[in-house]
Amino acid sequence: MTLPKKFYLGDIVRMRKPHPCGSDRWEVLRVGMDIRIRCLGCGHLVLMPRRKFERSVRQVLGGPNRPPEDFPGGSAAGGTTGPAASGGAG
Ligand SMILES: [Zn+2]
Repeated sequence: MTLPKKFYLGDIVRMRKPHPCGSDRWEVLRVGMDIRIRCLGCGHLVLMPRRKFERSVRQVLGGPNRPPEDFPGGSAAGGTTGPAASGGAG
């Protein structure tokens, strides 16, 4: 399995080593020469070089800015195609 080489803001990624707080999911806050990520468990911020980040990422779970084309084939069942329900009437 190959990881995408491009990362987007808002991506949720899983790191090889879980954070001491127990969460292994991180949100990408900034992409560039360095990658800034935030632990979804405790909110801890980490800034690391892109190369190190790519090596540390175990899986990309997706994000609001990531095109679905980055996930060819779908093994997960139950895909609903429709506008996200955000509520609000009138
Ligand atoms: Zn944490």
